[in-house]
Amino acid sequence: MKNLEIAKIFYEIADILEIQGIDFKPRAYRKAAKNIESMPQDIEELHKKNKLEEIPGVGEHIAKKIEEIIETGKLKYLEKIRKQVPGHLNELLKVQSIGPKKAKQLHDKLGVTTLKDLEDAAKSGKIRKLDGFGETSELDILKGIEIYKKGKERIPLGFALPIARELEHILTQLKDTSKVLVAGSLRRRKSTIGDLDVLVASKQPEKIMDFVTAMKNVQRVLSRGTTKSSVILENGIQVDLRVVHDSDFGAASQYFTGSKEHGIKTRIIANQLGYKLSEYGLFNKNNKKVAGETEEEIYKKLGMQCPEPELREDRGEIELAQKNRLPKIIPYNAVKGDFHVHSNYSDGSASIEEVAKECIRLGYEYVCIADHSKSTRIGNGLTEERLLKKCKEIDQINKKLKKIRILRGAEVDILANGELDYDNKILKQLDIVIIAVHSKFKMPKEEMTNRILKAMDNTYVNILAHPTGVYYGMREAYEIDFPRIFEKAAEKNICLEINCSAPRMDLSDINIKAAIDNNVKLAIGTDTHALEQLKTMEIGVAQARRGWATKKDILNTRTLKELGKYFNKIII
Ligand SMILES: [Zn+2]
Ligand SMILES: [Zn+2]
Repeated sequence: MKNLEIAKIFYEIADILEIQGIDFKPRAYRKAAKNIESMPQDIEELHKKNKLEEIPGVGEHIAKKIEEIIETGKLKYLEKIRKQVPGHLNELLKVQSIGPKKAKQLHDKLGVTTLKDLEDAAKSGKIRKLDGFGETSELDILKGIEIYKKGKERIPLGFALPIARELEHILTQLKDTSKVLVAGSLRRRKSTIGDLDVLVASKQPEKIMDFVTAMKNVQRVLSRGTTKSSVILENGIQVDLRVVHDSDFGAASQYFTGSKEHGIKTRIIANQLGYKLSEYGLFNKNNKKVAGETEEEIYKKLGMQCPEPELREDRGEIELAQKNRLPKIIPYNAVKGDFHVHSNYSDGSASIEEVAKECIRLGYEYVCIADHSKSTRIGNGLTEERLLKKCKEIDQINKKLKKIRILRGAEVDILANGELDYDNKILKQLDIVIIAVHSKFKMPKEEMTNRILKAMDNTYVNILAHPTGVYYGMREAYEIDFPRIFEKAAEKNICLEINCSAPRMDLSDINIKAAIDNNVKLAIGTDTHALEQLKTMEIGVAQARRGWATKKDILNTRTLKELGKYFNKIII
């Protein structure tokens, strides 16, 4: 199929014409390109039948160019205009905030022809001096480059899940679909996602392909087949779509959910039992299908429990499933409260009362308002005086709102020397004391471990927040000696946090499991700074499930009374 190749050529023409400041034509080429790459027919076939002009957006002019490409393998017009534009200037247009005019100006004045040139020029402060640019647009360019680069990598689950849900919703509405599932690492709720593997059960695969490749938010169609297509959405996420029969849906779900290792092992088990397991079903020696419509019936035939998708990583779940001993991981609806919410006292956007009311709506029994302490200037940290004022306000709202208990908390900085940012006189007035590293991240492992251990020795501490400091796209995790941290946490009844704000996801699934194996309890915190982020609790529970956490391992499943007991404090 030449469709994609031809579409690519037209996209390039559009980019180049745009840089040259030509109106209208780029849009026409782009429209033709999009229609060509998303159409089901083979463009060479259409050419043979002399029907190129039936393609929407293809007139006589563009049809001639298609003809030339099919017959000669190249296009003279493209070769000609390529010479008029230096280097990879059209790549610059992929950076947000750079239009064709700016790209041309950057080239003419600074000799910028590649993304690398652009980054160098911005970093050395040359761009701000150009006419029509300034310090802000220089920063915007750097930000744009960062986003463009990131878009090519994996994205955090917290960003990918709403996009996947939306897609699932749209596909479910179609009258030709009977089942829809986003499988792959998203279904396993991995903390970062590469692309979306979407399965659809339908008797009309062509119609589903037509629909998806023509969706408004599709930027490019990478491939289009009769039951399989790949597209890139405008946000840069790749979607791999497969349409299967209803009767194969379970087998396809099992196959495409993975992980790879889990899949390989289940297929080995199938072979040992005299079956063959594939994306089309479970077959016996006579090639007769014995299961395939649901995952449950496949696992049952294999003599094992059906593991929750979050467990399918070949980390021992298969062996336990064979013995009927899979752990009962925490259900999504078991959460009774959130331990980590910022109000507008520090850097949150909502008032305490607004947070409380939203938490009532979510059905919570309690919420801990944990604003920054005084050293976190960037987060508008609270002085002792403001903290006490906040506590008073919380008491008043608690009297007013009967349906929820607001806990007086703080996210207290662990200073570089391991001391806490408030003294004990203050700490003992709080219901929940959360401690966290927010500064001096670059420390040798031993020094960082000792810093945190010293802080954990304070008797008022309840939760260690985002224990490794990892921050997506900005900061790697700092190294700490986990066995020592676990030991201290278990000894002092300090919970480690599962911080589920999208760019953090700290602790990792592996470390959650290790914490549990070391008798350490965990507290999920959304680290909410804007009301809608309260919903990311689901991501935290997902991470807990990936770490094999059961209800008893997660503090958020306890009632207020049980919390008081656990922390040995009178909260009620
Ligand atoms: Zn923090
Ligand atoms: Zn925080």
